[in-house]
Amino acid sequence: MAEQRSHTLSPSAWNRYETCPRMYWLSRQRLPRKAGMAASLGTAVHASVEDILQVDLSNKNDSDTHWLPELAEDFLKTRWAEEKELFMATPRRPMWKEKEWDKAKRMQRSAIRMLLAFIGAEGTTPLQVTVAMWKALLSRVIAVEGELRTSDNRLMGRLDMLLADVDSDGKIKSWVVADLKTGRAPEDDLKPEVQRQLLLYRDILLSNNPNAPPVRAEGWYTANATTYGADGPSVLEDALEAWAATQPTETPLPATPGPDSCGGFCDWKAWCPHWWNWRLESGTLGKSDFSDAVILLHHIDGSNGSGVAEICEPANAEGRAMPTGIQIPISFDGRGLEALKELLSTGHQGPIFIGGAMTTRNTWRVGHWCDVLAWSPIADS
Ligand code: SF4
Repeated sequence: MAEQRSHTLSPSAWNRYETCPRMYWLSRQRLPRKAGMAASLGTAVHASVEDILQVDLSNKNDSDTHWLPELAEDFLKTRWAEEKELFMATPRRPMWKEKEWDKAKRMQRSAIRMLLAFIGAEGTTPLQVTVAMWKALLSRVIAVEGELRTSDNRLMGRLDMLLADVDSDGKIKSWVVADLKTGRAPEDDLKPEVQRQLLLYRDILLSNNPNAPPVRAEGWYTANATTYGADGPSVLEDALEAWAATQPTETPLPATPGPDSCGGFCDWKAWCPHWWNWRLESGTLGKSDFSDAVILLHHIDGSNGSGVAEICEPANAEGRAMPTGIQIPISFDGRGLEALKELLSTGHQGPIFIGGAMTTRNTWRVGHWCDVLAWSPIADS
């Protein structure tokens, strides 16, 4: 019973489970986590926006202008530095891109634009924002970065902003769950996984607050400063089903390899034999410009990163690596070379998983964006 209570499902874990149950299972095995620039940038922007929604303005006059841009940038700088430190302390990481700072500033400005639009002040530039305007916005903030949990503790989520939408008399019309999104904006409708996540926030909130006003769940996209609403019936029942199916188990959950799972974004390929067999069987192994591969390294020049690798193929369903005799020139650079040296310094001698090697030229390039890990597939049972 105690174990059951400790199992909690979040929207991102649910999405992983729906994409591929094995991906979800691997994400719970305490394997080395991967840092990513987009995620760090997003976290820094989120945190800085949350900071400006909790700012103390008591030492300013209501009519003051020209205060917001500097304050916002200071918060972002602090959060950027925090994220950079965490990123650099993560062994499994690509390169930190300092030039993304401008992008982070643009994202933060977009978030501020959407917040101003929320209180009917669209078109106001950050410089023109008065303290009184920002206080009006703050008075509409019900919660920032709040944790949502169902009373049975099975489902949880972390909402960015809970805002109050009011009518012309200032009476609350609805609550708005606003989830800041720093990824690509939808062309049309929200992607099913985002829809699922937003509706879960809404439904947990409603289950904890039966007397709440109507609740709207929205994705606020910084890419185009546009908000997208999620509508639909309750997802609680489906979420509870997923909760039951994701109980901790020793045996790996089933894998659903394919273009939408392995071909998309999966951080756990070095521990999964299924993408490799699926690639081989579908004739797509090594066929993309950026390909995942399992290799044997025959030679490496540690000073310039050039070497010779032999391509492997899966010998069985468990992912035993079989050398093919096909040798290719390979070149490691930047973080790719560092990661290789870190791996070799552990004494590793067997097959190596390379995530996303550039294979368009005669010489494969393993650059700063690539995973370089010991090939360690976990069998199905
Ligand atoms: S590599 Fe593919 S099959 Fe394996 S866990 Fe990831 S998504 Fe699932």
